[in-house]
Amino acid sequence: MKLAYVGLPCQLQALRKLQLFSDQLGQEWANSVSLTIGLFCRENWAYTCFRALVEDDYGVKLSEVEKFDIKKGKVIGMRNGEVVLEIPLAETKPYVRVGCQVCLDFSAELADLSVGAVGSPAKYSTVIVRTKRGMDLLKAAEREGYVEVKHISEVKPGPKLVLKLTKEKRDENLAEAERRERAGYVAKHIATMGENNLEKLVEEAQGKSFADLEKDVIDAGMCISCGTCVAVASEQLEMVEERPRLKEGAKGDVPNAYLACPRTSLPSMVIAEKLFADEGEMNSDSLGKYIDIFAVKATDKAKLTRWQDGGAVTALLLYALKAGEIDAAITAKRDENWRPLAVVASSEEELRETGGTLYCYVTNMPLLREVASK
Ligand SMILES: Cc1cc2nc3c(=O)[nH]c(=O)nc-3n(C[C@H](O)[C@H](O)[C@H](O)COP(=O)(O)OP(=O)(O)OC[C@H]3O[C@@H](n4cnc5c(N)ncnc54)[C@H](O)[C@@H]3O)c2cc1C
Repeated sequence: MKLAYVGLPCQLQALRKLQLFSDQLGQEWANSVSLTIGLFCRENWAYTCFRALVEDDYGVKLSEVEKFDIKKGKVIGMRNGEVVLEIPLAETKPYVRVGCQVCLDFSAELADLSVGAVGSPAKYSTVIVRTKRGMDLLKAAEREGYVEVKHISEVKPGPKLVLKLTKEKRDENLAEAERRERAGYVAKHIATMGENNLEKLVEEAQGKSFADLEKDVIDAGMCISCGTCVAVASEQLEMVEERPRLKEGAKGDVPNAYLACPRTSLPSMVIAEKLFADEGEMNSDSLGKYIDIFAVKATDKAKLTRWQDGGAVTALLLYALKAGEIDAAITAKRDENWRPLAVVASSEEELRETGGTLYCYVTNMPLLREVASK
């Protein structure tokens, strides 16, 4: 099965680490992802916190909001084109997931295509093309009329804002990681970014138990709820309210889960070297490695029913499905109360239902494993 995977920067890190260690982990299913689309991400919220903020603090029912957006320092809720909720971002900070506060990646540096709002005018998405796979898809989708593409240099405000947010996130979260280290909690994913001795990382995971994962990641406030540990050790582990737990009666030895976790180590330099090995000369700045940047908008041919910015993600997935480049996409949708759900979309209809941004975290790795292992 050829799968596309849509995720936040940390979810792309989790997937790429799984792919890097797929032999050692015996998790070949991770390699059936043939297309990755990453979303820019400054921060996000656990659903329970987001619900409490919107409904309890602001008195707005989630079911009454049709679309959320973040603009000009505010979380905005819209209904019938009218603003029904405005929350200054500063007020949402206490609700930001603790594991997100030590993430240094804004622009999903390990995706084939990274997509966000900033950098492009309204009704366009900014698309950073990082791999030949991503470039071929974008060009083919443009040729077949699914998307309209402009070079980022032709639009305003341009990539300056992407660079600004990237730097802000990195500086702020690096300072937080340093604060935590002084308190005795090491952000191992940051400490191992430059590590190139992969055998050492495998050896370090040997004999690790769930108690080690709890100590080093979960109780240390580093866990991002990606569910990778559960995906590779599903007989022993389960997710309960966004937290990995040992199943009742299960044995606590989970060396696979420890090695697979993107927060016990993240040799991102090795991952990037392997990922971009065949891409030739590339740009490399604080946005990571990339070929080029564009402003992209879905056309009427994509027949989108809902989307966030330019609808680029959904239109590109629709084209990939139509062209037989993917059989399905692992992505997200919501229920009427904005509870996020990981979904597999394998038809045009299902894909169209997934458009739009959910600012709450969606644990999707266990679903990816289930679908990819079939
Ligand atoms: C938590 C979060 C924070 C973000 N922060 C920023 C930011 O600070 N700056 C910025 O420029 N852009 C940010 N984005 C990205 C932006 O909101 C849009 O998702 C992006 O521009 C793509 O828009 P589109 O119209 O091309 O996509 P669409 O065609 O609307 O498709 C969006 C795709 O993303 C998937 N998706 C939505 N929510 C999630 C989720 N939580 N987890 C996994 N997949 C999801 C959908 O299922 C769909 O496949 C953020 C996105 C998320 C989810």
